[in-house]
Amino acid sequence: MRVWLDHVGVAVGELAPALAFFRDVLGLHVESPEEVTSQHVRAHFLHMGPSSLELLEATAPGSPIARFVEKRGPGLHHVALRVEDIDQALAELHARGVRLIDHAARPGAEGARVAFIHPSAAHGVLVELKEPAPAVARFRTPVRHQLGDLELISVSDGFFRLDGGAMFGVVPRALWQARLPPDDRHRIPLGLRPLIVRGEQTMIIDAGCGDKMDARSADIYGLERAYHLDHALAEAGLSVDDIDIALASHLHFDHVGGFTRRAEDGRLVPRFPRARYVAHAQEWQDATHPHERNRASYLAENFVPLLEAGVLTLVDDGAEIMPGVSYRRSGGHTAHHQVVMIRSAGMTAVFAADMYPTAAHVPDPWVMGYDLYPMDTLAFKRAFAREAIEREYLVFFEHDPALAAGILREDAGRRRVQRVI
Ligand SMILES: [Zn+2]
Ligand SMILES: [Zn+2]
Repeated sequence: MRVWLDHVGVAVGELAPALAFFRDVLGLHVESPEEVTSQHVRAHFLHMGPSSLELLEATAPGSPIARFVEKRGPGLHHVALRVEDIDQALAELHARGVRLIDHAARPGAEGARVAFIHPSAAHGVLVELKEPAPAVARFRTPVRHQLGDLELISVSDGFFRLDGGAMFGVVPRALWQARLPPDDRHRIPLGLRPLIVRGEQTMIIDAGCGDKMDARSADIYGLERAYHLDHALAEAGLSVDDIDIALASHLHFDHVGGFTRRAEDGRLVPRFPRARYVAHAQEWQDATHPHERNRASYLAENFVPLLEAGVLTLVDDGAEIMPGVSYRRSGGHTAHHQVVMIRSAGMTAVFAADMYPTAAHVPDPWVMGYDLYPMDTLAFKRAFAREAIEREYLVFFEHDPALAAGILREDAGRRRVQRVI
């Protein structure tokens, strides 16, 4: 077994005086805290090269850290050792008769898997074993791609998190967790990547979550918008004023939350002041008449103000939105969910929206639990994949945290995505 010092855990009574020393006197940088709800603890990491200090703050009386501080006062709590394979490490320790607190790994902070060795076996030291989460490289820089006469710019509105089980429907966690490891609240990291298409006009397809989400929802969805669409537009040399057309794949909040914003006087106004907004007519009907199953996803504040401002156009299946760009109904996720076909000079790109939310969803049966008509999704995916592989479509994955677009390939029956962006 190979081990490295990962971090030293320090139990704090009050956070402010602890930060006054570790942050202000020692000059260490404090990462934003992470709550491990199962342990009622908030962890503040201060990184120092390959190792860190972890300040542990109890969030509930009677929790392990609260009891520790009560009994012994604040101070050194545990030493964490990083291992490559925690299951193998536990098996080895068990075989050697080492007394363990956890016989199986459990979720820790930052998506890691952890287990504790009993202090009696480690000469009075509480030892944590930690297998860090496989790094999900998250990328947010705008990336340009020329498709014939059209320029495509993939941009980011930040990241959010959704329940991993719901994202993969009937696919067991044992199969998807290696691709997108869940955190201790069972959520997987997801990107929010609208696509800008520049031709005769400048169009944005979807616009992320926007900034209207209340604090409670932002916490539930793990919304991270320190860097968001305005930053991405600026980095790409654009602003909200450059957008002529804003097109919706469908009207869920994580796709059109960024279509409106709250003005200083509290009114909801279109985010892109010069744009004509385009949505599907029947999707609009469904979004404005929600039922119990889809109510949480359709928030009127994201689209009704567009109708009121007189900037909305509703179109049907297959509509051409601007030269080379047209809707294509996939259904499945919602009855009238659209993918967007982008064609120029004999080449085709596809904005797949929630038909292929991430590159992990490329196998046909990997269909989200969120889909209202999963059998329709399956039927569309089957036919679409054949076509995309044969014609080498460039497919954009709106929610993939680590990859913007790629080409579907199939070798010996195994389907994969060859990264392009
Ligand atoms: Zn959706
Ligand atoms: Zn979505």
